Amino acid sequence: MEIDNIIGQRDLIAQLKRLLSLNLIGHAYAFSGPAGIGKKTLATAFIKDLLCRSSDSENCKCLSCRTFNEGTNPDFYEVISDRKSIGVDTIRDLRDDAAHRPTYGSRKVYLIVDAELMTVHAQNCLLKTLEEPPEYVVIILLTTNFEALLPTIQSRTVNLRMAPYTDDEMKKIICPRYPISKEELEFILKFSNGIPLNAIRMIEEGKIRDIRSQVFRLLEKPDDFIHVENVRKALLDNREELSTVFDILLSIYRDCIIFKQGMESRLINSDKKDIIKSIASSYENHNLFEKITKLEGMRRNFNYNINYQLGIDALLLEIQEV
Ligand SMILES: [Zn+2]
Repeated sequence: MEIDNIIGQRDLIAQLKRLLSLNLIGHAYAFSGPAGIGKKTLATAFIKDLLCRSSDSENCKCLSCRTFNEGTNPDFYEVISDRKSIGVDTIRDLRDDAAHRPTYGSRKVYLIVDAELMTVHAQNCLLKTLEEPPEYVVIILLTTNFEALLPTIQSRTVNLRMAPYTDDEMKKIICPRYPISKEELEFILKFSNGIPLNAIRMIEEGKIRDIRSQVFRLLEKPDDFIHVENVRKALLDNREELSTVFDILLSIYRDCIIFKQGMESRLINSDKKDIIKSIASSYENHNLFEKITKLEGMRRNFNYNINYQLGIDALLLEIQEV
């Protein structure tokens, strides 16, 4: 089966294999999980297995599999959105197509990427198909937020939640593709939160290294006002980097605590041991814990914060304050 080639997600894969081998396929599934976790990769493998006409042969050459690989299998239909919303007309087209029987196999599979972008109208239109689906129809939703779908859609859909990958699984995904050093790999694993795309972005963009060295410089030289101002500007222009900055800051203060406890070998930022040592020397243990609590609170506030700029100013003050 194609899903045998997927790394990790063992429970989900076992569940899907059971459904496939018992031929107990329902009409709607959602693959849900954070952006970059690999929802489409897993869904695509599952869809190929759903459409395959011969069971359990590797590198299957059946007509369905061949055309699926070429992107021309008429029994597979992917809803393409403009990434802002999926309107009712798009779902009506899907419904019209679903009225026609499959061409090659016994199923037709519909894939809706970013399903949470469906308008209420679109979801209600999809609901009609889910309420009385033609027996050959399988609808696959990909979503970062299953709970954002209408409860009526949720209740008719099997939600398959994807879990973050373990370090070993991440290595299996990353290492064959990117020849990177052991140190860099360790660093990337620590900052990618078990999400493959995060790791791939870090490797391809090298951006996080840059952000990290800027954060370290902030902590090392809190009164270098030109640098503080540069960081401020960078954060105002690139809001998406804020989360990485928090990750790095928190990792540094946690490292300071670990350092004070004499567990140098467990530092996340082990390559910056000297700087960690010097930052740690400016703080008592309880100050470090307070700092972490404060930063975690600030990070939460950004999710609700009305004024981003004020939030950034407060954050920089907090970093400068020893
Ligand atoms: Zn096949």
